[in-house]
Parts: sequence; C-alpha cells; structure tokens
Amino acid sequence: MNALTGRFADLKIDAFLVSAPPNIRYLSGFTGSNALLLVTPSRSTLFTDPRYTIQAGEETSGCAVKTARGPLLAEAAQLIARRRLKRIGFERGRLLFDVWQRLKDALPLGASLKPVGPVVEELRMIKSPGEIAHIRASVQANSLAFEAALPRIRPGVRESEIAAELEYQMRRQGAEKPSFDTIVASGPRSALVHAQPTSEPAGANQLLLIDMGATRNGYVSDMTRTLFLGRPGRKVRNMYDSVLMAQLAGIAAVREGVTAEQVDRATRRVLRAEGLDRAFVHSTGHGLGLEIHEPPRLGRKDRTVLRAGMTITIEPGVYMEGFGGIRIEDTVVVTAGGCEVLTPTTKEFIAL
Ligand code: ZN
Ligand code: ZN
Repeated sequence: MNALTGRFADLKIDAFLVSAPPNIRYLSGFTGSNALLLVTPSRSTLFTDPRYTIQAGEETSGCAVKTARGPLLAEAAQLIARRRLKRIGFERGRLLFDVWQRLKDALPLGASLKPVGPVVEELRMIKSPGEIAHIRASVQANSLAFEAALPRIRPGVRESEIAAELEYQMRRQGAEKPSFDTIVASGPRSALVHAQPTSEPAGANQLLLIDMGATRNGYVSDMTRTLFLGRPGRKVRNMYDSVLMAQLAGIAAVREGVTAEQVDRATRRVLRAEGLDRAFVHSTGHGLGLEIHEPPRLGRKDRTVLRAGMTITIEPGVYMEGFGGIRIEDTVVVTAGGCEVLTPTTKEFIAL
C-alpha cells in the first residue's frame, strides 16, 4: 500500500478508489467479488456488502473494513465527503463508464475524479518471494495434473473429455480451478490459437495441442505442450524442433535488464531462419500472477525492462491452416543473471 501512496504526489491525487478485484486482492488480501478499496496515505478502507463481512475480517490487513448496507459507491462517496478528499483517482482501464458516471454524481461538491493508469498492475509485475512460491505451487499442480492425465489421452477420446480429465486432475493436485478455459485441440484445429475443446475425438496420427493452467492460492500457471497421437512424420518433427529451438532461444534471452521486445525478437529470429516466422501469429509471452494476462507483453513494441522477480511465459508457436499448430509454453521467473524455468514437464516431442 505504501508503494502506491508514495506515488500520489506524482499522480496528483489525494485518494485512489481501486475497483479491479485482482488489484483489491493484491493491496488488501480480500478475495470476494464485490468490493471497493479507497486508498489514502493515512488510512485505507475496504467497502463490501454483508455477504462478505466475516470473510473480509479474516482476509484483509492494512485497511479498515466497512460493510455497506446499500451501494458501495454511495458509501465511498460519503467517506470522501467526511474526510474532505478532493482529487480522487480511479482506474481508467478498469472502471465501466456507467460506474464512473454514478460515482461522479455521488461525489461531494469540490471533489473531482482523476483517471489513473495501471499503477497497481505495475507494482504487481515484480512478485514477492511469497507470490513466487504460490506461482511455483500452481505450476507444480498443473504439471502433475498433465502427467496424471496422460495415460487417458489416446486417439478416439473427445477433446472435451481430455479437457475434463486435465481439470479434474488439477483439482486433485490442490488447484482451486483452472486459470483459464483449458485448450485441447486435435489435428487441424490445433492451428486455432485459442481453440475451444469440441466433442470431436482426438484423431490418430494427428497433432494434439494442450494449453492449461492451474490456479492455486489465487495465483496462476500457464503451460502448453503439443503431442502427437501416433508416429510423427518428418515435416511435423522438423516443425516441432523449430518451435522448440525458438522457445529455448526465448528462455536464453531472458534476464534482468533486457526489454520484453528483445525476448520476443529472439524467438522470432529463430523462426525466421526456419522460414516459419509468418506462421507465428502472436507475441512470445506475457506476465502472469493473480491474472493470466498481466504486463509485460513479450511482443513487438513492449519496451518494459525485465526485472528479477517478474513471472512470465515463453510460448512461441507456429500455425498452418488445414494442417495444425505447434506451441510450447513454460512459466519462468526472471532472475538477475537469466531466468528459472518453473515448468518441470518435458519438452521432448511426446508421441502417444
Ligand atoms: Zn497458455
Ligand atoms: Zn500463455
């Protein structure tokens, strides 16, 4: 909270009304779905509704808890009036226009709203040792779930069944839920970067792309492995080797002090040499933590300088319409001299 209030002078605000649930969780510890957090240099107040009174008491630290009987916005506005706060920052990328308008109407005379950029998200980019431990545990649960589900994966099993098995195993390994909708895509469907599992069976002698993550203690993991159900031919093997080389080049490029776009360039350079850069249609990776997509984005034009303690994914992929796609993704943590790959799962081409 102090790291945030330390920026108030720069931001020209007296108070900051935080509305995004992951940011509220990060700052206060509260995990409920309905809350507002009014941060001021002297004292912060979490507003929630009576469903969460007990939970908020148990979870929060460093702020007062106010259970509102009516709309949270009205309560927050009353406190703003009582404490004569003038310049109220709000999260410009997070607050709905509708809510902004209601807030504006509820504010006392003399108080004004100031749009503030992703300052909490910036603080969240560098993880504490405790957060890294949660992410490590999430990565572990995810990889153990993948391993436990492998014996069930064979031609003829529906994509949706494979996804269900993976998610079931995640929970058995201690995950609260998947970090996102598990992707299971067989054959040509693996060329769809964000494919939804269908009721189609996984095909024999086809690629099978699995992208999965487990949420543990609120923190996420993210891993993609591409398997082959049968004996892969030369074309598919070569493609796999190219993607793996690109992924390893990306990992080798990660270290404190380099920019996000430099890491992206490292994977792209390998795929260009292999004649596959046009088939690589997304960025190299993204930050992750309380949310599955956090800054930085490891893509073109992101000049964020990587710092020790950032957790990011490295996930180049190539996609050929009508043929299929191959992506390999690990979760890594940036260190002073390089990075630590948290994902323990093998990256050898698994043929089942
Ligand atoms: Zn993924
Ligand atoms: Zn990812």
